[in-house]
Amino acid sequence: MTDGTSDETAVLITGTRPYGGDPVDVLLSDGRIAAIAAVLARPDGARVIDGAGTVLLPGLVDLHTHLREPGREDAETVASGSAAAALGGYTAVFAMPNTEPVADTAGVVEQVRRLGEEAGLVDVQPIGAVTVGRKGAKLAELSAMANSAARVRVFSDDGDCVSDPLLMRRALEYVKAFDGVIAQHAQEPRLTEGAQMHEGELSARLGLTGWPAVAEEAIIARDCLLADHVGSRVHVCHLSTAGSVDVVAAAKARGTRVTAEVTPHHLVLTDERAVGYDPVFKVNPPLRTDVDVQRLRAALADGTIDIVATDHAPHAVQDKECEWDQAKPGMLGLQTALSVVVDTMVRPGLLDWRGVARVMSENPAAIGGLADHGRPIAVGEPANLTLVDPDATWTVRGAELASLSVNTPFEGMELPGRVVATFLRGRPTVLDGTLAAVQAV
Ligand SMILES: [Zn+2]
Repeated sequence: MTDGTSDETAVLITGTRPYGGDPVDVLLSDGRIAAIAAVLARPDGARVIDGAGTVLLPGLVDLHTHLREPGREDAETVASGSAAAALGGYTAVFAMPNTEPVADTAGVVEQVRRLGEEAGLVDVQPIGAVTVGRKGAKLAELSAMANSAARVRVFSDDGDCVSDPLLMRRALEYVKAFDGVIAQHAQEPRLTEGAQMHEGELSARLGLTGWPAVAEEAIIARDCLLADHVGSRVHVCHLSTAGSVDVVAAAKARGTRVTAEVTPHHLVLTDERAVGYDPVFKVNPPLRTDVDVQRLRAALADGTIDIVATDHAPHAVQDKECEWDQAKPGMLGLQTALSVVVDTMVRPGLLDWRGVARVMSENPAAIGGLADHGRPIAVGEPANLTLVDPDATWTVRGAELASLSVNTPFEGMELPGRVVATFLRGRPTVLDGTLAAVQAV
């Protein structure tokens, strides 16, 4: 699709459809959208990309990514995760803090941010831990992380719940000063001790300890009440049950400042996948029932659930290819997320492309406080963009993904929608569906 010109200062995308609308030419220059018109002249030296048949979206933003660095560079690095993100159409990702050491100080969050800049493929925005070492006993230095060069605005102990209500209250109070948000992994620990899969008829039959829906719903309800009490913002990570949708809907109706995310895998996979005990389907929160899946899709369509977030969780082979109860929970997500959303939401008519832009770019950028992402496709805006071929299909092969890990639950599946190109501040990070040569800027 590219013509191979060497001047990379300007890019002209011809005949693309912003948000799936009418075809236009779009000129990117100096990191911004310089012009949009039915037909634009090609400036001297500009790279031309034939966008016929493609949909142009604001670059995707993932509020929930595990990049594993520092500490588990065998599973993923900031560089490899950034490559997976760019190939998945992302221009910004929020990195969860359950690294080794934990990202609970200004030093570690600044290190993660710097590694992201060096990789140069997506903007890597660190999330800070809520409690020291994610141990749930003592608040981390939230203000120091907020005031650091990483400008942290999202805090989470993801992987573990901030279960102590007093600590949760104090955290909500602290982040209010800089309009931060606490992203809660809603899991009542006592109700989920030893849990291996969704609690239901199937867990009883398979002999695996159940993770009851109420353990999620109870924490969401509590945290919405605490957020009301403090007047602060709470964000629900990977909401997974129909009952949780009810709790969030009720809180939003009374004005609670709550937002919620759903993962791609919870939009399509059910607890039936545990039959066969293949740990690639072990995830936390667990895969739920078809009733839950249908409700999550409807809630994403009607705005009760605000965003899709991947919970991209790479794991080394030895942590996944073992007995179910020994395996670590989590699945890859960055390179399959858009295709799963196309399959589960766009094709059935639950979301149009403007809706996809809203739940995968605009809303996550707004929740996380990123000013230059999730912006409208309009002249003068930052050129953080994604070009998608909605009619293409591709077959998922874990070994061919850019991640250092291969734990995709979609292995061998044919998925619709292919990311053709991704642009970070006007510079292609992905072209023709493959990683573009990138010079650090
Ligand atoms: Zn996570």
